[in-house]
Amino acid sequence: MEFTDRVMKCVDCGAEFVFTAGEQLFFHDKQFKNDPRHCKQCKAKRARNGQRVRPETRTTCSACGAETTVPFKPTQGRPVLCRSCFQKRQAMQLAAPEPAAADD
Ligand SMILES: [Zn+2]
Ligand SMILES: [Zn+2]
Repeated sequence: MEFTDRVMKCVDCGAEFVFTAGEQLFFHDKQFKNDPRHCKQCKAKRARNGQRVRPETRTTCSACGAETTVPFKPTQGRPVLCRSCFQKRQAMQLAAPEPAAADD
C-alpha cells in the first residue's frame, strides 16, 4: 500500500499539520482506525495536561484551619496540613531542637 503525506487540520487550534506517509504506515501497521486529529503542539500540550491531573481532595488544615487541597485521600483521624504548615513543620523537624545548655 502506498502512502503520501496528507495535510490535516488540528481540531483544537485549527493549525494544519502533515500526517506523513511514514506516520500513516505506522498507523496502518498498528491498525489504528482514526486519523490523528491534533497537531504536534496540541498533542504535547494534552500530554502535559494529562500528567498534571491528580486526584485532589478538599480538606481543612488541622493546624491553622485553612482550606487546602491534598493530592491524596485524607484518612480519618490523621492530621492534614496545608502547604505552608507542612513546610513549617518540615523546617521545624530539620532544625531539630538541640538540648539547651543551661547557662546558670
Ligand atoms: Zn493544534
Ligand atoms: Zn495550615
